[in-house]
Amino acid sequence: MIPVIALVGRPNVGKSTLFNRFTKSRDALVADYPGLTRDRKYGDGKMGEHQFIVIDTGGITGDEQGIDEKMARQSLLAVEEADAVLFLVDGRHGLNPADEMIANHLRRSNKPVYLVVNKTDGINEDIALADFYSLGLGDLYSIAAAHGKGVRQLIDVVLAPF
Ligand code: GDP
Ligand code: MG
Repeated sequence: MIPVIALVGRPNVGKSTLFNRFTKSRDALVADYPGLTRDRKYGDGKMGEHQFIVIDTGGITGDEQGIDEKMARQSLLAVEEADAVLFLVDGRHGLNPADEMIANHLRRSNKPVYLVVNKTDGINEDIALADFYSLGLGDLYSIAAAHGKGVRQLIDVVLAPF
């Protein structure tokens, strides 16, 4: 069985960037426009000896109407399909009310959830991480998806049980 990993979080936290790093594909839309990826997207993930399926999602804004609502529904469906969930937050912007809403949902999902603080390249990691402990999701994983920092270590932890 190939494990399935879902990437969830607010728009613009770097989900598609991480998806592309896992899949080495250019297919996921990565842009500075929050919410550009609107549907679930599946990719074949490979990292060292690890193989997995990764699901990219459009994001959850916490203000769900119209397009936002569709994106949020896709994200929740991805969580249901997944064996493990990577919950991405933005280490440059700090904690956001939508992050708390997503954390509450994920806590109820009964899936293994890994809180991933992205974009910690070139900033003080301790300060970037400090905000997010209050989400109560246990250990934090600091990465920079755009540069690959921390990504291999993260996937080693996430896939260890499989
Ligand atoms: P998504 O909406 O969650 O899929 O986010 P994207 O992957 O589209 O990324 C949103 C923006 O964040 C883009 O401008 C990316 O280049 C930028 N970004 C993603 N990962 C990193 C990172 O590790 N460091 C920095 N500095 N920027 C990043
Ligand atoms: Mg995206």
